[in-house]
Amino acid sequence: MNAPLPSSVALGGNPAAADLERQLRQAVGGEVMFDAASRGRYATDASIYQVEPVGVIVPRTHADVRAAVEVCRELGVPVLPRGAGSSQCGQTVGAALVVDASKHLTKIGDVDRSAMTIDVEPGVVLDRLNATLRPHGLWFPVDVSTSAQATIGGMAGNNSCGSRSIRYGNMVHNVVAIDALLADGTEGRFEAQDAMAAASPRVRDLAAALAAIGARERDEIERRVPKVLRRVGGYNIDVFHPQSERPYTSDGRANLAHLLVGSEGTLAWTRALTLQLAPLPPHRALGVVNFPTLYRAMQCAGDIVTLAPTAVELVDRTMIELARANPAFRPTIDAALIGAPDAILLVEFIGTTRAEAIAQLDRLVELMGGLGLAGSVVAMTDASVQKALWDVRKAGLNIMMSMKGDGKPVSFIEDCAVPLPHLADYVARLSEVFARHGTRGTWYAHASVGTLHVRPILDMRRDGAAKMRAIAEEASAMVREYKGAFSGEHGDGLVRSEWVAWQFGPRLTRAFEEIKALFDPAGLMNPGKIVRATKMDDASLFRFPPAYRVVPIVPALDWSAWNVDHDPVADTLTPPGTGGDPADGFAKAVEMCNNNGHCRKFDAGTMCPSYRVTRDEKHVTRGRANTLRLALSGALGPDALTGDAVREALDLCVSCKGCRRECPTGVDMAKMKIEARHQWQAAHPLPLRDRAIAHLPRWAPLAARMPWLANARNRWRWLARFGERHLGIAAARSLPAWRRDTFLRNAPRDDGHGDADVVLFVDTFTEYFEPENAHAALAVLAAGGYRVAVARPAADDADRARPLCCGRTYLAAGMVDAARHEAQRLLAALRPHVARGATIVGLEPACLLTLRDEFLALGLGTEAGALAPRALLIEEFLDRERAAGRLALPLRALPQTRAVLHGHCHQKAFDAMDATERVLALVPGLVVDVVASSCCGMAGSFGYEAAHYDVSLRMAEAALLPAVRTAAADTLIVADGTSCRHQIADGTRASGAREAVHVVRVLARALQRIDATSSSGS
Ligand SMILES: Cc1cc2nc3c(=O)[nH]c(=O)nc-3n(C[C@H](O)[C@H](O)[C@H](O)COP(=O)(O)OP(=O)(O)OC[C@H]3O[C@@H](n4cnc5c(N)ncnc54)[C@H](O)[C@@H]3O)c2cc1C
Ligand code: SF4
Ligand code: SF4
Repeated sequence: MNAPLPSSVALGGNPAAADLERQLRQAVGGEVMFDAASRGRYATDASIYQVEPVGVIVPRTHADVRAAVEVCRELGVPVLPRGAGSSQCGQTVGAALVVDASKHLTKIGDVDRSAMTIDVEPGVVLDRLNATLRPHGLWFPVDVSTSAQATIGGMAGNNSCGSRSIRYGNMVHNVVAIDALLADGTEGRFEAQDAMAAASPRVRDLAAALAAIGARERDEIERRVPKVLRRVGGYNIDVFHPQSERPYTSDGRANLAHLLVGSEGTLAWTRALTLQLAPLPPHRALGVVNFPTLYRAMQCAGDIVTLAPTAVELVDRTMIELARANPAFRPTIDAALIGAPDAILLVEFIGTTRAEAIAQLDRLVELMGGLGLAGSVVAMTDASVQKALWDVRKAGLNIMMSMKGDGKPVSFIEDCAVPLPHLADYVARLSEVFARHGTRGTWYAHASVGTLHVRPILDMRRDGAAKMRAIAEEASAMVREYKGAFSGEHGDGLVRSEWVAWQFGPRLTRAFEEIKALFDPAGLMNPGKIVRATKMDDASLFRFPPAYRVVPIVPALDWSAWNVDHDPVADTLTPPGTGGDPADGFAKAVEMCNNNGHCRKFDAGTMCPSYRVTRDEKHVTRGRANTLRLALSGALGPDALTGDAVREALDLCVSCKGCRRECPTGVDMAKMKIEARHQWQAAHPLPLRDRAIAHLPRWAPLAARMPWLANARNRWRWLARFGERHLGIAAARSLPAWRRDTFLRNAPRDDGHGDADVVLFVDTFTEYFEPENAHAALAVLAAGGYRVAVARPAADDADRARPLCCGRTYLAAGMVDAARHEAQRLLAALRPHVARGATIVGLEPACLLTLRDEFLALGLGTEAGALAPRALLIEEFLDRERAAGRLALPLRALPQTRAVLHGHCHQKAFDAMDATERVLALVPGLVVDVVASSCCGMAGSFGYEAAHYDVSLRMAEAALLPAVRTAAADTLIVADGTSCRHQIADGTRASGAREAVHVVRVLARALQRIDATSSSGS
């Protein structure tokens, strides 16, 4: 029976909730969060649902979990286990105490080589586990697409399945044992039934009762449990009488851990798991089969599977076109195509030798010839080419997910599994169903096991719920007709638990309820999932119910591109500004976050540096987007956009723009932070420090006239301490040193010729702190034979004596009007050059790239649009010239033969890193090692602030500083960002200071005509 959650507790902010919170604070060592914003951040997963939890704990140890469960038991409060919260069905949301394992419960045990197993805690992320296993030549082969964020506890909870499940099976086939904690406090190891003889009496009795149910229901199991590999709905009652195409165990023994797999946290808390490992495949070969129609591709899937591939993955026409529309992916996808196929199947084989893997491709070619599709296979044997194509498939999905407007691809029949002989008919008929309901879907993924992903586009704020039910009913009828499984990958949760009875019938549904009662008699574990479910279309559980409203605001930036409506059938958008958003598109931009959790990744990319050091849901892109959404929809009270919850959630965002590029839906938190800070500072006075930093371009000329005074703070400790106390600038930081020999004062006066090919925009930081970089740029451009002008204020600029500026410091403070003023000055100065078709080059990524990014959101009209494509970093310009065969720099080898290159976050966000690497490699004999670093942690003024000093250094220590420290003394350290160079200098001071230089300084040194010593500047 489900425990009735006292509604007073569920509402929070009342005596009952306060009592729960108080008891948890006493009993639990980890974080305990009951504030509205924290609860709101845990109210969603990657589904369409939103249910506020009672509270959240992030336990440090298993003892914390045990203590929390005890408190909940005594107070009758449900418990909801959580990993990354990336589930698509709503199984990770509920009115319960959420217990988040992902931050601290992340221990990985030793590999048991003889048994090929490993023990892990539930919060371990799959990618991290596999990185640990790689040196052993092993991996955990349930390769879910969310491998960068999915936790093993969550994967077990959902019985997750990867692209290669045809070879390796699902979680249920790869979990050997689970150490579990039951809601009544019982702890036990669930494993092979006959190994549980020494378990506690409670666990032994439980095992016996489960076995009795299995025996009693043997016939019904045979009758009702779908006989497909991909069946993850309901409980795995068939452990005692397996129905899966692939046996759960190799020796036929029933394993009770398998009953917990797929139970979605409804039976027990998983404390630890023993996982079965597999050898890493030594060689892979990929065959891409091109089909004239999707139908034909699906018809052939069954034949292809007879060749025993490790994966057969579908990419349909829509996805092919989406990938081809992206210049970065076009060459890769084009290399896989023969003509204009309607669909392709990616067929992967593995072999112990390369020849063995390739030989299987020959069999594929032969098979396709026999099926009347001779010449349809593109063979890919090179590992990097294969990886590039898998990446394209992923990116295609991402582009689809980035659809603007209120209609979104909704996951509710995304993983129905049907036997392969029926796959083609299923696809054709379901496409007709979509059309009848005025929508469409894009098909992709696991053709090998009959699980094709498809998400019809629905608007849940309007008629989406009704269409969802209608489509689900028609889809389910087909699934039944084809003897498939309605839930084949993503579980039941809120969207499909009501279908459990439909799938398994009343008898097994009762058996499921008995199983639930045996494990969890008080009904405390994640109630309302799998058994005793709510309706899938219960709008009170939706993230965007019909009653959803946005609080009107007047945004400072232009968000109109998001303020659109989308026609799902014609795939067209209404014009910008027509979507009816009371926040003029800002709310719709925020709502783009679909909670997939990809921002929790730890790969070589940038997103999200503050999460990487804190591992807090509050300090990750998703948590920030959710906080903004809650504030904008009034869920955090009046004026929440300018309140503490939003300010705190954005506090550690370093505006790196990593999410702008790497978030699948393009959530651009850096821009959102500007907007939020603008709104905030309209309601609150801006602190003195922030004002001082924002206005730096205005007072910089004065400071440069008296550098001895301006630099005194770096010499006098008491002044640094005073600055920390009164301005919040970390005393431990050095500040950039002001220079008297600023660039513009010393730049050649005859550079202003009106026919220049290139105009050098010298930003505030280069001008006042590192003018030698601008001199180096002039030297390099001159050596390349370019006519160069230096950008100076326009003749009618009222502030003509002051150098030009992009407005970056104002943007960081949310002072959008002041930033716009700077942008207008710059636009006026560049107007004649842009009109002439000149290229504008800059040196500081954070400044130059503002011309391509924020300028377009400042309401500057078409001029900003004309400037943006002409504004290039100097390395982008040189690389473009190189590619066009126009660059002839007389470079000679340097004494240094290696360079360690750290990319500025904005360089990465705008894809400028490859150009930087190629330009550096123009120096003869120079080998470039790119540091796999995220943000350096300085991020403008962020790292200088006392409150952020520690976080800033931790960001730098994650990869950048160790890479710099271990680089040989004669290795060049190259970093194009002013702040990055400063962080490197500060962070290595104690261990033998290293100086980092801009790429243009390296080129200048290597110029044959330039003496290396004199060009080194300072
Ligand atoms: C874009 C996208 C792609 C996806 N691709 C795949 C895919 O290829 N294959 C696939 O199978 N799934 C996929 N998923 C779904 C999801 O990512 C996976 O199911 C994933 O394994 C869930 O892991 P998690 O850590 O996010 O779990 P969560 O969502 O946090 O939890 C999942 C379930 O497990 C329970 N749980 C978590 N921890 C514990 C614990 N310690 N004890 C008991 N119960 C626990 C939770 O209560 C919940 O019911 C995808 C999702 C998205 C958004
Ligand atoms: S911010 Fe982007 S990456 Fe993060 S959860 Fe939202 S959509 Fe996913
Ligand atoms: S801008 Fe950077 S720090 Fe901020 S949310 Fe995005 S990835 Fe994270």
